[in-house]
Amino acid sequence: MFKGIKSELLAELSDIEAAGTTKRETEITSAQGSRVTIEGRPFLNFCSNNYLGLSNHPEIIGAVKQSLDEHGYGLSSVRFICGTQDLHLELESRLTDFLHQEATILFPSCFDANGGIFEVLMKEQDAIISDELNHASIIDGIRLSKAQRFRYKNRNLADLEAQLVAAQPARRRLIVTDGVFSMDGYLAPLPEICDLAEKYGAMVMVDDSHAVGFIGSTGAGTPEHFGVCDRVDIISGTLGKALGGASGGYISSHKEIIDILRQKARPYLFSNSVPPSVVSGSLKALELVQGGSKLRETLRANAKLFRELMGAAGFTLLSGEHPIVPVMFKTEAEAGEVAKRLHSRGIHAVAFSYPVVPLGRARIRIQLSSQHSEEDIRSCVAAFSASVPSQPVK
Ligand SMILES: *Cc1c(COP(=O)(O)O)cnc(C)c1O
Repeated sequence: MFKGIKSELLAELSDIEAAGTTKRETEITSAQGSRVTIEGRPFLNFCSNNYLGLSNHPEIIGAVKQSLDEHGYGLSSVRFICGTQDLHLELESRLTDFLHQEATILFPSCFDANGGIFEVLMKEQDAIISDELNHASIIDGIRLSKAQRFRYKNRNLADLEAQLVAAQPARRRLIVTDGVFSMDGYLAPLPEICDLAEKYGAMVMVDDSHAVGFIGSTGAGTPEHFGVCDRVDIISGTLGKALGGASGGYISSHKEIIDILRQKARPYLFSNSVPPSVVSGSLKALELVQGGSKLRETLRANAKLFRELMGAAGFTLLSGEHPIVPVMFKTEAEAGEVAKRLHSRGIHAVAFSYPVVPLGRARIRIQLSSQHSEEDIRSCVAAFSASVPSQPVK
């Protein structure tokens, strides 16, 4: 049986290769950080979500080691059978306070959080109104529900309003958006989204994976940044980016929504508990985030410096303040060629082209970390300048 399928799969793989969209993994032999080792060579790393430099933070490692001794390695159970420890409850309660919500439920990942929520809250008679650039996990989660689907153009309030009008006959309405769109570093216009939600009787859900820990005055994310914590109904997020970068996800929301998720969300009910060591590491990450603003300020200053230096060097960037900084190129080939040259100069950065981003919008997406030094950033900009081809790449 597999013989026939094998040749089909090989054909599909060679189509991907021919389209130039094969994804290859870079083998890192060091810990994650602003400096990594690849193929035995040191690289400056500008493509991880390690925004606050917590992925290999000594205090987190210490907390995790202690937790291994006190709480063991694994739980071998889902939460509701025998997989809940004091640590899990503590993390849920800390996240609730941090995000200014009423309650929180942990999931194995944010992908699972988004995969589990829509089916529970939104039925046939309900409507989900979703930004077209939302994360794949939101798209898949919506697919798993039987709700009516409405899609609006990225951050386009007029289109959102048109979709809300179309969704008026539904029983419940839920607007869902990424807090930050990861290919552009743009923030969703939450105050205006909340205004429309009020006007048309909709709940608002924000996936704040690329914001939690560093956007907003205390790092509570885009709702805090825009002053709308009390107007957003549901927040999903990840522990796998700024908050230590291991794994795990959550939903923070009204108490009744969390209560029903504990009864019905399938990735929560039927997948193993987040390991105690990861929960401990996340608790420590949260403590570091809440303990002061230094990491956030360094990150903000780093993003600002990189944006200024690159602008002065003549590069075209997408505007903003987020540590995701897309450096734009005229052609897909040029973006790819520059990424290759950066690599040869010891800079680890990734080019994105169609279909991940729109045709003609190829870019190298740089991600700053609070761990980068000013010298790291200047080296990166110098490497960019040295890598631009003198003749256009065909
Ligand atoms: C990274 C990301 C996710 C997935 O998070 P995991 O915890 O790694 O599953 C979900 N949503 C958005 C917007 C993300 O950026």
